[in-house]
Amino acid sequence: MKTVIVGGGIIGASCAAFLAERGADVTVMDAGKPRFGTSLANAGHIVVSHSVPMAAPGMVGQGFRSLLARDGAFALSSRPGRGTLGWLTGFARRCTESNVSALQPGIDQVLHRSAQLLRDDTELQFTKCGLWQVFTSSADQAAAEAEHLRHYGVQVRDIPEDELRAEPGLTDNVRAAIELAEDFGVDPAELWLRMRRQSEQAGAHWQEAVVPDLRDVEADVVVLAAGAWSPATARSLGVDLPIRAAKGYSVTISGMETMPTRLCARKVQRTALNPLPGADDGRLRLSARYEITTADDREIVHHRIGALINRARKAVDLPDSLGEVEPWTGVRPASIDGAPYIGFLPRTLGTAVLVATGHGMIGTAMAAGTADLVTRLAFGEPVSDAESRLSPARLFA
Ligand SMILES: Cc1cc2nc3c(=O)[nH]c(=O)nc-3n(C[C@H](O)[C@H](O)[C@H](O)COP(=O)(O)OP(=O)(O)OC[C@H]3O[C@@H](n4cnc5c(N)ncnc54)[C@H](O)[C@@H]3O)c2cc1C
Repeated sequence: MKTVIVGGGIIGASCAAFLAERGADVTVMDAGKPRFGTSLANAGHIVVSHSVPMAAPGMVGQGFRSLLARDGAFALSSRPGRGTLGWLTGFARRCTESNVSALQPGIDQVLHRSAQLLRDDTELQFTKCGLWQVFTSSADQAAAEAEHLRHYGVQVRDIPEDELRAEPGLTDNVRAAIELAEDFGVDPAELWLRMRRQSEQAGAHWQEAVVPDLRDVEADVVVLAAGAWSPATARSLGVDLPIRAAKGYSVTISGMETMPTRLCARKVQRTALNPLPGADDGRLRLSARYEITTADDREIVHHRIGALINRARKAVDLPDSLGEVEPWTGVRPASIDGAPYIGFLPRTLGTAVLVATGHGMIGTAMAAGTADLVTRLAFGEPVSDAESRLSPARLFA
């Protein structure tokens, strides 16, 4: 089976590895530097717990409050691009229980499969299991969040005070924490490189090239994994993929002597922390912000980096003078209902296009499971009912 994968981020690289290992003849085409990189310096949280799609009850209120706040977690760029208002309205309309019940089971299955596949990789390095959501304003917020997550079937453990105080690197401002026991962390760059190498060892070829028109690609199956650029590419088939670019920032601080031993997140401020695994130079990655913008907006606005460090400081002991600090930005492919599109576009379009994009905040966590699902779809093997609901067919219903 001749397969061309458009996009070599974590989704494209993982699909390349899985398809090539199953014997497909795989070529990956990636646009290269101006677009490449979203998958490399994100927070690296493998969040099995994040199965609830972004479009869920309560998100509209949270989004509005955040828009009004200074340096809020959710934001709109001053140049958000055409069609943003329609996307926001569509997203708001989908913040319902029925959207969650339709899509959560599929996301959950793909996330669990991903986590299992990553854990089976004995050479990949991990951050200790168990993500702590930490709360600095009041313990009541921890209780409310735990109740919210349990409502959706997520396993949550309340952290006792003595355990909280024994965790190194957290400040006394942290009043309470809850643990999401199955979550763990990776260095996303290491994961991407492993997937790329795995694909090449199995015979996949990588080319630097922009694919402007999917109709020109000669293949039995084309996998569209172009992240936030997928809508522009799908347009060549007359398909409107409702995905926007959601820009975020990370900063990697080296030379940390004391830091938390596990993944942490400040839920309310949506700030994520990862003491990167395998580094002997004490690298701590902080990450935040979800700003709707255009896919080519990769500008690092420096005061955002300062704001991110200041927010993290409330929960984590950071030295007054930080050593080496590496800022980064990337654009998440954010779908209109908060769940990825994984499946074939209608065959009537002439080309067999398998879409694998729109993973938003959890592309790294879902990558291996997505590749497993894409491989089964490409080879015409069975998928579960929950997985089939992630298909882009929901756009044409
Ligand atoms: C600040 C931040 C923190 C995050 N933290 C996490 C986290 O903790 N856990 C998690 O799971 N996820 C996280 N994410 C989300 C994650 O980074 C994304 O979901 C994921 O990287 C998307 O991968 P992708 O392969 O779909 O897209 P990308 O990595 O963007 O890859 C798409 C590729 O397609 C190529 N391309 C585009 N157009 C074309 C074309 N026409 N022809 C050829 N090639 C093309 C580009 O060059 C690019 O390399 C975070 C994101 C950000 C920004």
